Amino acid sequence: SVMAANTKHKNSDSLHLLESNSSSTQSSSLLCDLENLKLIEEIGRGRYGSVWKGILDDKTVAVKKFGPQHRDYYLNEKDIYLLSFMEFSHSLPRLLGFQEICSDGRPEYHLVLSYAPLGCLQDYLRNNTIDWLTLCKMIQTVTQGLAYLHSEVNKGDRRKPCVAHRDLSSRNILIKADNTCMICDFQFAIRISGSEYYSCGERFDSQTASLNDVGTLRYMAPEILEGAVNLRDCESAMKQIDVYALGLVLWESASRCSDLYQGIEVPNYKQPFEKELGLHPTFEQMQVMVTRHKARPLFPDIWKDSNPAIRSLKETIEDCWDHDADARLTALCVEERLFELPLLWDRYKSGTITNCVAAIYSSRST
Ligand code: ADP
Ligand code: MG
Ligand code: MG
Repeated sequence: SVMAANTKHKNSDSLHLLESNSSSTQSSSLLCDLENLKLIEEIGRGRYGSVWKGILDDKTVAVKKFGPQHRDYYLNEKDIYLLSFMEFSHSLPRLLGFQEICSDGRPEYHLVLSYAPLGCLQDYLRNNTIDWLTLCKMIQTVTQGLAYLHSEVNKGDRRKPCVAHRDLSSRNILIKADNTCMICDFQFAIRISGSEYYSCGERFDSQTASLNDVGTLRYMAPEILEGAVNLRDCESAMKQIDVYALGLVLWESASRCSDLYQGIEVPNYKQPFEKELGLHPTFEQMQVMVTRHKARPLFPDIWKDSNPAIRSLKETIEDCWDHDADARLTALCVEERLFELPLLWDRYKSGTITNCVAAIYSSRST
């Protein structure tokens, strides 16, 4: 079977590990045979392993490697990719295969994923500015990906549960060749149904485990920093935490959009709170800043409120990172608002041109 082909390896020291107890099998027929996989170069290094560019049957792929101490993360990320209907969203990478091999006597776990040639959003924004339409495209597709993750899908007897990402950041967003984005890195993601959730193949309920201890410090919502996540409604609480981080990602992306600065030079890229707290903020500093002072990244003065598109973008960002988690927008609602932005912009611009022309004519006739 295809499944066997994926876990099989040419050398005899390959490992045959039990599949985790996921609903994995239904999607596995979509996976490729990895016999001809070649690794080319390391393209990313995260906290828990490295990501390589590879070639599989003439196709460029990304290979995420996990060492033996991070087997649980591998299993969790694989389980998330193997959920039903995950392949339906263009804003999530495709899992092309997975394998468990032996390298220098140590087990190594590989996820083979579709490759995003423009790399992660953070590096991209650091090295490039973007125009208004590219900004819209990027943030719309990121938000689409999050809204899809958060949604439950039922078709026939197959079901995609709600998934919370729990580590959304500009490093966990990838850019494809056409500037659309994908959300990646599901090692901390959880499947939720009501007050029960599933992580690393185990079932928990809201009483038994801490949901507070993951994510990237800089992107942590005030309720996480305060240890006050509302676990009675786990599903909403986890989605609201993702939407808070989405707000920061929207701010970061907009901060590099040349069309928002009216001809003045676009400031260098800065991570959220980098201006205030530098490159290595501590937990306590983040707590004071985000929870106690309720501070958020600032919008440059030059972003003109007279342009309804810019005003709407700012309001949407503020409604994502609201201190009150219950007051935050849902990802779906953010998606709807972002899809209106290009139209608002065009209407405003054509309005200002019409006004200019009218002004010129009226000044001539007097
Ligand atoms: P970690 O859990 O170690 O953070 P990630 O899945 O976030 O691993 O990947 C780390 C980095 O590798 C990303 O920030 C990105 O730069 C790069 N990367 C990951 N997946 C891909 C991919 N499919 N295509 C291109 N680059 C990728
Ligand atoms: Mg990552
Ligand atoms: Mg990660």
